[in-house]
Amino acid sequence: LARNHAAVIGGSIAGMSAARALCDTFDTVTILEQDELPDTAEARRGTPQAWHNHLLLDRGREALDALFPGYTDYCISQGGVLIDPGYDAAQFFPDGWSPRKRSDARTLFASRPKLEACIRDFVRKDSRITFIENVRGTGLMTSSSNGRVQVTGLTYRDGQAGKVRELPADFVVDATGRGSKSVSWMKDLGIEVEECNLDAQVTYTSRWYRSRADHDEWWKWLVIYPAADREAELEHQYICTIFPIEDECFIAIMGSWGLPMPQTNEEFEAAYRRARGNEFARVLDLSEPLTDMRRSKSTRNVWRRFDKIASPPARFVAVGDAVCAFNPIYGQGMTCAAANGVILRDVLCDHAPESVSLVREFYSRQAELLQAPWQLAMTRDGAFPHAAGTETYPDGLKKSLVEKYTWTGFQFINEAAFADKVVKTHYERAFNLHDTLGDFLRNPRVLFGLARYGVQKACGRGVLRGQMPAA
Ligand SMILES: Cc1cc2nc3c(=O)[nH]c(=O)nc-3n(C[C@H](O)[C@H](O)[C@H](O)COP(=O)(O)OP(=O)(O)OC[C@H]3O[C@@H](n4cnc5c(N)ncnc54)[C@H](O)[C@@H]3O)c2cc1C
Repeated sequence: LARNHAAVIGGSIAGMSAARALCDTFDTVTILEQDELPDTAEARRGTPQAWHNHLLLDRGREALDALFPGYTDYCISQGGVLIDPGYDAAQFFPDGWSPRKRSDARTLFASRPKLEACIRDFVRKDSRITFIENVRGTGLMTSSSNGRVQVTGLTYRDGQAGKVRELPADFVVDATGRGSKSVSWMKDLGIEVEECNLDAQVTYTSRWYRSRADHDEWWKWLVIYPAADREAELEHQYICTIFPIEDECFIAIMGSWGLPMPQTNEEFEAAYRRARGNEFARVLDLSEPLTDMRRSKSTRNVWRRFDKIASPPARFVAVGDAVCAFNPIYGQGMTCAAANGVILRDVLCDHAPESVSLVREFYSRQAELLQAPWQLAMTRDGAFPHAAGTETYPDGLKKSLVEKYTWTGFQFINEAAFADKVVKTHYERAFNLHDTLGDFLRNPRVLFGLARYGVQKACGRGVLRGQMPAA
C-alpha cells in the first residue's frame, strides 16, 4: 500500500540512494539540499571531498545497480573507467613492483562529481522524486503518544528568504554527511547516541591533471606505497597515487598519516619529485595541471551508534556518513552510503513504515554492514602514536605490535594475493566488503596460502620485482 510523502535531508550519494528506496513505499519523495545542484559533473560546496579521488568498490556498484538499474554502464558511457586492480594497476610496494595478474574484482573510477552526477541523472528522471535546492534542514518535527515519539516532518531554512519553514512528512531520512546534526536532534528528544571515533590525522593532498598525448603507460592506476622504514625521508612515507578519471584526466594524490604535507602548488611539485621511485614524478612532469592543489583532513573515523538506541523515534533513520564515516584510504564510504539505500528498500518491504520495528531492523542491518569496513579502518589507525579517540589501543605491547606489524602484514597479504589465486579471491572479497577481515583471516585455505607464500618468499621466490612489469 503506497503512503503519501517522505523527505530526505541531503542530496548526495546516501540521500539519493535513500530517496530511490523510499519510492517503492511512498507516493512522493522530496530531497532537501543546501547546495544548488549542477546539471553537469561539477564540484560544489556541500561535498568538499569531491576534489579528491573516489573509487567505487564492487559492493557499492552492485548497490547502485540494484537501485538504479544500468548505473555502471551509464557511468562508463559518461567516461568512468572500470579497472581490474590486479591487471590494470602498477603498485610499488616497499620491496618492489607487483606483477600483473588478472582478477575477478572490478573497481569503478571516475571523478566524484561524475559519479554523483550520474546518479542524479537517474533521480531527475524519476517523477516521484523532487529536489528542493538551496535549503538547509534545521530540525525534526515530532509528536508523541503513550510515551512513543514519532517524527512527523522537518524544519528547514530557506536559502533566499532565510525563513524557517515546515515540511510535514510520513518518513524522514537524514543524509547530511559527516556534519549531520542528528545526534543533537536525538538529544533534544532525550536520546543519547554513543559515538565511537578514531582520528589518525590522515591528510589528502590532490591536484587534477590532464594527460598529455605521450602518456603511453600500460597501467591505468598507479599506487606508490609508503616505505617500510619509519625513518625514511618524509615523502617516501607518503602514499602516492595517480587516479584515472573521465576525459583523459587524472587526480594525483599524496597522503599520509599525521605527517606534514604540502600547502601550496610549489610545495606539491617539490614533494612529488621526491616521492619513492621515478614513475609518479615522471608522469606528473609530463602532464598539465588543471587545478590548484587541495587538502582534506576530513578523515576521522566516526560511528554514531544509532543501532544501540533502546527506543528510537519512529518514521526516521539516518544513513551514510551521517552515521558512519571512515578514514577514506580504503575507499569504503560511498559503498556504505549506497548499500544503506538497499537496506532501507528491503526493510520497507518487510515492515510498516510507521513502526519502530522498521527503524530497529534498519539500524541492526546497517550495523551489520558497517562492521566489516569499520574493522578494516580500525586495524591500522588505532596504533599510531598520534592517533586519538575512543578506539585507540592502550599503550603497551599490543599497541607496539600492531604499529610495527599491521602495515607490513597488509603489504605481505597484498603480495601473497599475487602468488595465490584463492588468497586473492578472498582478499578481494574482504576489500570489497563482501566479507569481513576476520572471515578472511579465519579461512584455513587462506592461512595455508599465506604460509606457503611466506616460505616461497623466504626462499627468494617472492613475486615482487625491481622493475615495473612490461606491458
Ligand atoms: C578525502 C576523501 C576521499 C574519499 N575517497 C573515497 C573513496 O575513494 N571511495 C569512497 O567510497 N568514499 C570515499 N570518501 C568518502 C565519501 O566521500 C563519503 O563516504 C560519501 O560521500 C558519503 O555520502 P553521504 O551522502 O553520506 O554524504 P556527503 O556526500 O558528504 O553528502 C552530504 C550532503 O548533504 C548536504 N547537506 C549537509 N547538511 C545539510 C543540511 N542541513 N540541509 C540540506 N543539505 C545538507 C550536503 O550539501 C551534501 O550534498 C572520501 C572522503 C574523503 C574526505
